Amino acid sequence: MHPWLIGVPGTIAAAAGVIAYGGVYPRAQLFGSTICRTNSARKLAITFDDGPNPDITPKLLDLLAKYNAPATFFLIGRYLRECPELAREIAARGHVIGNHTESHPNLLWKRSTEIRVELRLTHSAIKSVLGAPPKWFRPPFGFRNPWLAGEARELNMRVVMWTLLPGDWRAPSGEWLIGRMQPIADRAKRALQRASSAGTGVKTSTGEIICLHDGSHHEQNADRTATLAALEYWLPRWRDLGLEFVTIENAVSAPAS
Ligand SMILES: [Zn+2]
Repeated sequence: MHPWLIGVPGTIAAAAGVIAYGGVYPRAQLFGSTICRTNSARKLAITFDDGPNPDITPKLLDLLAKYNAPATFFLIGRYLRECPELAREIAARGHVIGNHTESHPNLLWKRSTEIRVELRLTHSAIKSVLGAPPKWFRPPFGFRNPWLAGEARELNMRVVMWTLLPGDWRAPSGEWLIGRMQPIADRAKRALQRASSAGTGVKTSTGEIICLHDGSHHEQNADRTATLAALEYWLPRWRDLGLEFVTIENAVSAPAS
């Protein structure tokens, strides 16, 4: 091998590593800036992907109403077309609706034209059902590539990621999922304690975004009873810790408190 070629495999491996990091790691900013946290340790943004789901979303809306918890729903376009009334009800109950593509593909290896179609179909569906276009986008599986940021920006949407992905789609039980969601309470306790002992208030720190699922991209009417059970457990406890439930809109645009 020619001496200068010796480093080539390493360079290719390093480049592949950078692409993997930028495209897959939830808080990576390499392929465009994303929203990964709320603007205050006191604010918790609860988000749901892969709905609307006629079997689960109505029960979830009742549960969120019981604890006065506004949330953000990233809808799959083809499901939205099947149940526009349910999407209207989500919005009417004070929640924010975002775009989660038309058919939930892995965008990591998609070209910009394919990404554009996926984003625009759902963008126009939300606009026609709700009367206003979405301002927020969550990529399926959280996977991004260098073209996604530009396509989202053209539609005036900001890309939203998360700080915690408990894996509710594979939850064997509500108890299992309750344990997986424990970090929200642990981190909130630490952040709020730190802020009060430093006497700085919580304005200097940031808060969590949790990514849950009220549906499944594999099939409509997926069972998400573990997600409901875990939220029934955590919502009052999060509230008693002093956490405020916010939509993504209020997580970033309203003044931190
Ligand atoms: Zn999804």
